[in-house]
Amino acid sequence: MWKLFNLIFPSRCPSCDRLTDSLKYAPFCIDCWQLLTHNPDTKRCRTCGIALPPDYDFKCITCIKESPHYRKIYVFGDYEGALKAAINLLKFEKVRRLSRPLGRLLSCLPLPPVDVILPVPLSKERLILRGFNQSHLLSHSLSRNFSIPLEPNILIKPRDIQPQSLLSRANRLKNPKGAFSVISPGSELLHRRVLVVDDVMTTGATINECARVLLRAGVREVYGAVLARTKSD
Ligand SMILES: [Zn+2]
Ligand SMILES: [Zn+2]
Repeated sequence: MWKLFNLIFPSRCPSCDRLTDSLKYAPFCIDCWQLLTHNPDTKRCRTCGIALPPDYDFKCITCIKESPHYRKIYVFGDYEGALKAAINLLKFEKVRRLSRPLGRLLSCLPLPPVDVILPVPLSKERLILRGFNQSHLLSHSLSRNFSIPLEPNILIKPRDIQPQSLLSRANRLKNPKGAFSVISPGSELLHRRVLVVDDVMTTGATINECARVLLRAGVREVYGAVLARTKSD
């Protein structure tokens, strides 16, 4: 089947440049996709999920200094290699079909029991430009796989802010402040445990700001699940 597919739509794996041999993971080849495995032994901060330097055991210095609003962020892998290529293809080249296999990767994480899943929202302007919210697509898989309700319209981003990737660390920490709102917080959120889903995380300031407004709206606990975390914040 994939041979026929490749004859009609020849594509190369963005990671190894060989011809794609899989419909399921296209344009990635099976070998490169199978390298994308969650390594539970990677030493990460138990709160924010950043890769820890060798002399740290549990938490990074940032989380030791000040606990974030969220309980913990679960990270699938580092933002590099095939994982980075796959996320960027989904997000910037709009290869939407990758959201399913990428969503399945998130489902491999040892997630805590939660009552509701919320994707990190995009502003209306950004949503119109991109045509979809990648975090919403990823959340679908998690919601299906674990039978947890997905509520994509409760947490909103009323205005656009500068992309975090273009800012210095100091500005990345400040930038998402006030960017999110909770609309009609009702029984869906009150005293519930919430999982906020995003594709890439740098400082964690975005999920932390989501957690802040969610806790203020009556949520009991906020956790995060992200596909990839940058190695330094
Ligand atoms: Zn490959
Ligand atoms: Zn940390």
